[in-house]
Amino acid sequence: MPADVDALLLGRAQDGGVPQAGCRCPRCTAAWIDPARVARPACLGLVDGATGESWLVDATPAFPSQLRDLLSDTVGTHVDVAVPRLLAGILLTHAHIGHYAGLVHLGREAMGARAVPVFVSASMAAFLTANAPWRQLVELGNIDLCVFAAGEPLTLSERLSVMPVAVPHRAEWSDAHAFVVHGPTRRLLWCPDIDRYDDLDGGLRRLLLDHRIDVACLDATFLDAGELGGRDMRNVPHPLAGDTAVAVGAARAAGWGGEAWLIHFNHTNALLDDAGAAEAWGRERGVEIGMEGWQWRI
Ligand SMILES: [Zn+2]
Ligand SMILES: [Zn+2]
Ligand SMILES: [Zn+2]
Repeated sequence: MPADVDALLLGRAQDGGVPQAGCRCPRCTAAWIDPARVARPACLGLVDGATGESWLVDATPAFPSQLRDLLSDTVGTHVDVAVPRLLAGILLTHAHIGHYAGLVHLGREAMGARAVPVFVSASMAAFLTANAPWRQLVELGNIDLCVFAAGEPLTLSERLSVMPVAVPHRAEWSDAHAFVVHGPTRRLLWCPDIDRYDDLDGGLRRLLLDHRIDVACLDATFLDAGELGGRDMRNVPHPLAGDTAVAVGAARAAGWGGEAWLIHFNHTNALLDDAGAAEAWGRERGVEIGMEGWQWRI
């Protein structure tokens, strides 16, 4: 009997999470008091229910609890709990802290992992190999770097493969990729970070249509252009949630019929507040608001 393959949303916040270090904004203050308001950085889990093999897409600063949730039989409602899960690998989108800093937990001071496959682009591999402390993970064999190329499919298991897609995103330390996850029944796009959808050749529309995406998890870091107060938002370009919804709308107008889920919310983004209000905001615009713990059968 073929068991199911599931994708789990293990985090929906921007790299710094909520509450963010040193922040006294009402949203972060509330999250210090009420654990239900905590939001972990964006992270996707993949589980092959037949073999128990599981993968993390991005290693965030919340790696310990996200790994625990990935491997725990208690997460999700319809996962085959009979098969124990094991970490079969980690895929990394790029070298910003919310997406790879969690690798530190695999090293000698913590897990002392053995040869965990870490799937990365060539530029990400060069970064991890050249710089401490990441270099030590490679040298001690805690991780085993597996280099992928954009546009070339990556086989994770018999029933799961991933297509890396290069995305335009400020490349201080590495280039950036989105992933199209091919499950036995559906295709899921994981795109937590992108500067602008318009910078993609053919826009988001072409990406969703060409890859026949069923479920798209999309960068919607900010809600309002003035959200960062005194900081210049041009230094951290990301789509506004409304821009993401407009890009999704253009895809729908061109015949795309999938589900669009917004993720990677900055601590300043009001979509993190009242779930009902956020849902209503999304419903009006044809998008869903990513919620931690959500899962998609793929
Ligand atoms: Zn990010
Ligand atoms: Zn805050
Ligand atoms: Zn980034």
